[in-house]
Order: sequence, then C-alpha cells, then structure tokens
Amino acid sequence: MTQEEYKIYIDDIVRRVESARLKVSDYHIVKIVAISKYSTSADIEKLYGIGQRAFGENKVQDLKAKSNELEELPLEWHFVGNLQKNKINNLLDINPALFHGLDSLDLAYELQKKLELKDMTLDTLLQINSAREDSKHGFMPEDASDAYAKIKKECPNINLKGVMSIGAHTQDRDIIKKSFKTTYEIYKSLNEATICSMGMSGDFELAIECGSNMIRLGSIMFNK
Ligand SMILES: *Cc1c(COP(=O)(O)O)cnc(C)c1O
Repeated sequence: MTQEEYKIYIDDIVRRVESARLKVSDYHIVKIVAISKYSTSADIEKLYGIGQRAFGENKVQDLKAKSNELEELPLEWHFVGNLQKNKINNLLDINPALFHGLDSLDLAYELQKKLELKDMTLDTLLQINSAREDSKHGFMPEDASDAYAKIKKECPNINLKGVMSIGAHTQDRDIIKKSFKTTYEIYKSLNEATICSMGMSGDFELAIECGSNMIRLGSIMFNK
C-alpha cells in the first residue's frame, strides 16, 4: 500500500469506530491504541505519519527497543502485556503513559514498592479475566471491585484509572458480548474510573457497543 492508500484504509477503520460509538451516544469518545507488537519501527512511523499517536507493546523489551528507536517522535506508549516482577524496573524506566495489565495483588504490592523507591506514579488499569479463561491473566470478576479498592487504598503510587479485559476467545458473539458486559458492569461500579479498555481487531465494534472507551488494535491497524 502507498501512504495514500494506507490513509484511506485507516480512515475506514476510524469510520467503523465512529459508527459503533454513535450507537452508544454522541458523547461517547473512543481512543484507539495501535498495538505494534507484530510491527517494526518503520511500520509505526508510517502510522504516525497519518495521525496515530498512541501505541502499545506487550513485551517490556520490545517497548524499550521501539520507544528508544522512535524517541524523536511525540508518541504515547502503552504497555498491554503481562508484567513479570523482575521487569518492573525496566518498565518504569520507560515511564509508559498507561499500564493495562495489573493482574494480581502481589504484583500491585511489588509495583508500589518500586514506584515509591523511584518516587514516581504510574497510570494503571486493573485487568479482569471476564471470560474466566485459564489461558488469561487478570482478576476474576467477583474479586475485581475489592481488589480495585484495596489497591487504591494501599498503593498510593499506583494511579488506577479503570479496567482492561480481553474478550472471550471464541467465535460465539454472544459469549464475547457477555464477557464485555461483565467488564463494563464492573467498570461502571468503580469510583472515579475513566478508562474501560476492551476490544481488539476482531471484536472492537462489539466492545464499543458494550461501553469500551479504549480499543487496542493490532493486526488490523498494521494491515497484517
Ligand atoms: C496483541 C494484543 C492486542 C491486539 O490484538 P489484535 O487482535 O492484533 O488487534 C490487544 N491487546 C493485547 C493485550 C494484546 O496482547
């Protein structure tokens, strides 16, 4: 694709986001985070060239490499992966705009300790395993609200902004929808939460219709 063709291609995705969000309300704003884990820094620059600013990675070392390579561009970096405790300091050195994957109390306490030592705060989302899948990380839906409150209270350097979830891994739209609704209900019940991150290339319209206001698009944004 030429840059002009790519722009038309991305405009079409933006139009799909628009029509999904308008089904919710005129005032429902949805942010697209382009997940670049399968893409190169050159691919990211192309997408930046047509206006995309928020990018996300799921491995700390990739986030570090790409954010370094593209450091002259005003990009907003998100970390959407599972964070191992021994990688916390590496992540904090990059100082991402948002960490989407806080998935256990253990990790929260460890993260709090490291943040305190560095005298910094981190905007973070609580990951919820709404589809109750063994293959996925995150809090079980019934534990999420208590965990959220506990982290808010006990981890002052973790700036909880809302929730993140991955839709159920199935072709059955009703089951995927149910998992999104579960996440959205928890999100609505939380005090002062502003971000509900759900929806990927294959299910973002459904996620938006269920109330998502942040979608994480990988393969579709990079046309892969
Ligand atoms: C890879 C990834 C995405 C993007 O997935 P696509 O299906 O390529 O859009 C979104 N969220 C997380 C957590 C991911 O790891």
